[in-house]
Amino acid sequence: MTGAAGAQLAATVDVGPSEADWAAAEALIRALPSTGRVLLICHVNPDGDALGSMLGFGLGLRQFGVHRVQATFPGPPEVPEPLRGLPGMELLVPAGDADPAPDLVICFDAASESRLGALADRLSTAGAALVLDHHASNPGFGTVNLVEPGAAATSVVADRLLARLGVTTDRAIAECLYVALTTDTGSFRFEATTPAVHQVAARLLATGISPGDISRRVFDTRPFGAVRLFGEVLGRARLEPAAADGQGLVWTTATLDDLARHDQPPYVLEALIDSVRCTAEADVSCVLKQTAPDEWAVSMRSKGAVDVSRVAVAMGGGGHRFAAGFTGRGSAEQVVEAIRGELGAALVSGVG
Ligand code: MN
Repeated sequence: MTGAAGAQLAATVDVGPSEADWAAAEALIRALPSTGRVLLICHVNPDGDALGSMLGFGLGLRQFGVHRVQATFPGPPEVPEPLRGLPGMELLVPAGDADPAPDLVICFDAASESRLGALADRLSTAGAALVLDHHASNPGFGTVNLVEPGAAATSVVADRLLARLGVTTDRAIAECLYVALTTDTGSFRFEATTPAVHQVAARLLATGISPGDISRRVFDTRPFGAVRLFGEVLGRARLEPAAADGQGLVWTTATLDDLARHDQPPYVLEALIDSVRCTAEADVSCVLKQTAPDEWAVSMRSKGAVDVSRVAVAMGGGGHRFAAGFTGRGSAEQVVEAIRGELGAALVSGVG
């Protein structure tokens, strides 16, 4: 792709919702009767942004006067331990108990319908579907779509819609939205950390929430078993300096057996990529987390020379230039071989 074409594509992708989209989203909520039933859904294996933006928005809806609000996500109804202290957890119901035909369904941080799992049917059974997201690859699968690729987190979109509805950001809402914002910006370390992000964060902190307590609880606490598990998984990391035309690849695997031996739930592995991606000799880092005998949840990170979203999309997943993921099938070696094969085409021209 030439530089000009690349710039053009970036410009297209970065276009967020129009004023008409915002107004339509606001109208969907304002049109709800006081007895209106709203179902909030976030993506499978929810992270801090998915849960935080969903619960924060749910609390905001209640303040707005919509009281019949359920929040849910596909798959087992277990919330990762570090996120169990989030305000608004009382809104959560297991997927099996979710309203089969709500007046309005609102989706959070789900880049595609497939991320809603078995709950995707609500897109057709609900009276209307509103999508709040920030993934550039989101096709806009709702009746109204607020997809803002320039937003650091889905919570930024949720925050803006709550403001339009006249909802006051109280401490509970602020904590949810702050957890979401810190999750997706890597605690304000990633490229997405714009001046606007710090302005949102400042407004949330001004409600009196405690950033130290929140980040200790959400990011810096894990069971001892997980600490030992990380040691093993990091010990088997492999460095391939020649991969990606010499930009380098580092990868490791965590198996179901690893989890069982250390008696740990799968979510503890989410933080592993942060320990792998600091490898100086590699632009690209990958963690393959086994989810079934021949199935891996693959997390990828880049320092910028490789657009890992291109690799992920080629493998049926999605994400951003610096962080992406997909589901890989086969042996770990086969999955890594497939990744190696996509790295060259994912090199960002003029970088590195
Ligand atoms: Mn997100």
